[in-house]
Amino acid sequence: MASGNSYFDEMRKNPEVTDLPNSDDPMEAENLDDPVHHLPKSSIAVASSVRELLDCPVCLNAMYPPIHQCSNGHTLCSACKPRVHNRCPTCRHELGNIRCLALEKVASSLDLPCKYQSFGCGGIYPYYSKLKHEAQCTFRPYNCPYAGSECSVVGDIPSLVTHLKDDHKVDMHSGSTFNHRYVKSNPHEVENATWMLTVFSCFGQYFCLHFEAFQLGVSPVYIAFLRFMGNDEDAKNYGYSLEVGSTGRKLMWQGVPRSIRDSHRKVRDSYDGLIIQRNMALFFSGGDKKELKLRVTGRIWKEQL
Ligand SMILES: [Zn+2]
Ligand SMILES: [Zn+2]
Ligand SMILES: [Zn+2]
Ligand SMILES: [Zn+2]
Repeated sequence: MASGNSYFDEMRKNPEVTDLPNSDDPMEAENLDDPVHHLPKSSIAVASSVRELLDCPVCLNAMYPPIHQCSNGHTLCSACKPRVHNRCPTCRHELGNIRCLALEKVASSLDLPCKYQSFGCGGIYPYYSKLKHEAQCTFRPYNCPYAGSECSVVGDIPSLVTHLKDDHKVDMHSGSTFNHRYVKSNPHEVENATWMLTVFSCFGQYFCLHFEAFQLGVSPVYIAFLRFMGNDEDAKNYGYSLEVGSTGRKLMWQGVPRSIRDSHRKVRDSYDGLIIQRNMALFFSGGDKKELKLRVTGRIWKEQL
């Protein structure tokens, strides 16, 4: 069905552009009586078709300045431009070095909802600052806090709690105090880092208690720390303490839970928790030093603000 007429090919490829003047009702464009300031329906249609024009036809990502175009007007993002060997991917003509200033300007006039709208964000942002907001949006989904395996699950807190319970078989406890036993039959196998996760629910929130072995410099140690299942600002409203010991000796740690926005590894590598030297851990375990048997007690509280 090749018509050989590139002008009409063009019209078919971009029907929404040629249809624009008809679908735009001037009576709807301004509605001063509406206090909620809804966008008129036709404006939403216009905005979404313009929004589609801003998707790079090659990588399908949203385009940001400089937006490039071929001499026939096909657009391309600046990341894809060096990869197409100076040929327009749409019409195969030479690409040259033409910027599409009109589209760049149109983009700056667009206001778009945050992409985490379905997670509860009601924010609407100018095209060029939307990306920046989304990187920091408090509604953006969290990564699965489970350590020790590459888990790619993301979601909001309630869905992650269900995921930890169902898919990682994580121990769930309710209450703000805990008394937890960690037993490992061969404590010298520090290389095979053992990690354990327990989830606590209290104050209507969820907390992850991590316990694991790792190498601190050349010495094998154990670390226990708490992470808050929520944003950083909210994590600061809580405090926690951990204790481990036996026969009159005791190690204590008091800290502030870190948000699960901070990766498990980041928290561990900043030593932000109770660190137990292996010798001490074996001493606390009693017995014949063949088995790691630690009892960690702790408490979570809400800071009085
Ligand atoms: Zn691209
Ligand atoms: Zn082209
Ligand atoms: Zn947002
Ligand atoms: Zn997971």
